[in-house]
Amino acid sequence: MAESTIVVAGGGLAAAKTAEALRAEGFDGAIVLVGAETEVPYERPALSKGYLKGDDARDSVEVHPRQWYADNAVDLRPGSPVAAIDAAAHEIGTAGGDRFRYDTLVLATGSRARRLDLPRADPAGLHHLRDLADSDRLRAALRPGARVVVVGGGWIGLETAAAAVAAGAQVTVVEVAELPLVRVLGPEIAQVFADLHRANGVDLRCGRQVREVVADAAGGGRNTVHVDDGTALPADVVVVGIGAQPNVDAAVAAGLDVDNGVLVDEHLRSSHPDVLAVGDIAHAWHPALGRRIRVEHWANALNQPVVAARTALGIDASYDRPPYFYTDQYDLGMEFTGWFDPSQPYEVVVRGDLAAREFVAFWLVEDRVAAAMNVNVWDVTEHLTRLVRAAATPEPAHLADPDVSLADLG
Ligand code: NAP
Repeated sequence: MAESTIVVAGGGLAAAKTAEALRAEGFDGAIVLVGAETEVPYERPALSKGYLKGDDARDSVEVHPRQWYADNAVDLRPGSPVAAIDAAAHEIGTAGGDRFRYDTLVLATGSRARRLDLPRADPAGLHHLRDLADSDRLRAALRPGARVVVVGGGWIGLETAAAAVAAGAQVTVVEVAELPLVRVLGPEIAQVFADLHRANGVDLRCGRQVREVVADAAGGGRNTVHVDDGTALPADVVVVGIGAQPNVDAAVAAGLDVDNGVLVDEHLRSSHPDVLAVGDIAHAWHPALGRRIRVEHWANALNQPVVAARTALGIDASYDRPPYFYTDQYDLGMEFTGWFDPSQPYEVVVRGDLAAREFVAFWLVEDRVAAAMNVNVWDVTEHLTRLVRAAATPEPAHLADPDVSLADLG
């Protein structure tokens, strides 16, 4: 394939890893990486954790140093968002007017932060958290004593709340659901996160919506957040973390099949055979789950590219890893492996101490281990992944019993 060109559309982790995997698989054709980001591709997890807190250096988040792209003959074009895809002509156009012909196109355009319509807010005090510049700006605003109102008790909201508390701010979180993360973890384990934040001084208000954010007459980025129970929260900083939307506009316009992301098969191939998709935008058939899932977490962007690269090069490969993600909030560290739908029947089995926040939780669906999460318990991911991958059916009493080795369960 010496003469062929693979264009990777996207400038984040999934895009950089696709380029890396193509070279690792021996592809010696041209690789063009066009991304909306103006930076060298970087990883996002630290933006709401260590980088936001000032613990992690800027270059620690880069996937590769800039020189890597030159050394590996990857034509890196930051600041070049994809504007149009002509799948029939095998061409993409960027917002800047450049056009690139491809033999294979890998879409890795990621997602953007959902926004609230807040026409009366002072934008100087309003924050979203998606890119490095957002994290830099928010870090500068998280001062001791600052009144911070976080809208949304998802991953961004909770990690930001923890960083704000660490900075000495007074933090209120307004979450629409009855518990933060309840749609991901179910109420039993979501309660652990609610308790954690309240124990660290966060004023967590669940089952509440923000009606309006209104700029203070005095200016200075100060706003008042009006909640639907009639309370008015003065805020030096308002952080909106209410979810993400996949960047699929160009894919839709190109006529690809799109439904909650670009529809791809287990090889990550879209409805057009020469267009693949990876990362946040890929609504991918998962052979082990027997359904499509779209996963916005870091591990997906890290691991799917190897499969996409192989598919692009005609090597048989399927993406069948269980989803994996992690968080760090205060003194709680956790990893989650697997997938389940909390709106469907399941059973939770806990090994360890929920109140002490040191445990492993297992979610059983029809007696099978569908997902597992270790909280302040380490070096068990390998065992949990094995149980999830095998859809194992251990006795719940054995799962709960710390004297039964996880290695012996199957
Ligand atoms: P998220 O995890 O989807 O959480 C958004 C939260 O905001 C949900 O709890 C949602 O409730 C709530 N919400 C929605 N509309 C609201 C409103 N009007 N008022 C109050 N709450 C509202 O999204 P995110 O936290 O913004 O994160 C963005 C993306 O980054 C996600 O894909 C996330 O997975 C990823 N991320 C991951 C990590 C990690 O893995 N550790 C860390 C940071 C970010 P409902 O669910 O009821 O709609």
